[in-house]
Amino acid sequence: MEELKKLLTQNKKVAVLTGAGISHESGIPTFRGAGGYWKQYKAEELATPEAFQRDPKLVWEWYDYRRGVCAKAKPNPAHEVVFKMESYFPEFLVITQNVDGLHRRAGNKKIFEIHGNIFTARCTSCSNRISLGDEPLKEIPLKCNVCGSLARPHIVWFGESYDGDILDQCYSFLATTELIFVIGTSGQVSVPVNMAKYAATKGAYCIEVNPEETSVTDFTDTFLQGKAGEVLPQLWEGISN
Ligand code: NAD
Ligand code: ZN
Repeated sequence: MEELKKLLTQNKKVAVLTGAGISHESGIPTFRGAGGYWKQYKAEELATPEAFQRDPKLVWEWYDYRRGVCAKAKPNPAHEVVFKMESYFPEFLVITQNVDGLHRRAGNKKIFEIHGNIFTARCTSCSNRISLGDEPLKEIPLKCNVCGSLARPHIVWFGESYDGDILDQCYSFLATTELIFVIGTSGQVSVPVNMAKYAATKGAYCIEVNPEETSVTDFTDTFLQGKAGEVLPQLWEGISN
């Protein structure tokens, strides 16, 4: 731990890549752990364009339920450390797979939400963005408030492509990152793993935080086994308030 703390004080450009695991201690279930089910459905069966095409009402009900869970959740000590990092490191970026908005609620501003945000919807016809707030929807499925067409969650579903412009900006930051944290991601979604690998091949020192080994563990420089809400505050202790 002391060696790692020293490394933190010596580097200036840092990226943090987060997945569902960092929000687990805030009470938001991960997709692949216990609680990854809703009714009889697995998350992977609902977070797809095919599921939405087949049954938009069902998919919207699931998102309405999950948005309610996210609205009640609060950032945990791991999010708080990631917030402190933003003002400590001269160059800093959070790249999150999470759609729960907890990094923003913790105060982070330098952030790309590469899978979208559960509090936003967009029209399937005119691309109008709709802000959803914390309350349950009055009408399901949601309709666009501009043109009346079907609206969908502003989320990158399994099998869909990412926003190319956001990816470019992530990769250009990662090309010269000195340190990268990979926190609470299972490594089963390929884009985030490729981002971490890219940073590592460009010379970044990689620190993974997860209770379990993942495909990132194979190439990480340091694997800190444990819960993000416990490991990160220990690592950050004595570095900044
Ligand atoms: P995942 O559900 O596949 O895996 C979660 C990972 O977190 C696992 O490796 C697990 O070991 C680890 N983990 C569990 N508890 C932890 C803790 N306390 N501290 C640190 N790590 C912990 O998640 P994923 O790889 O992020 O992929 C699923 C996709 O589903 C994401 O890309 C995301 O878009 C979406 N998702 C988002 C949320 C959210 O916004 N909170 C929640 C579930 C799923
Ligand atoms: Zn519209």
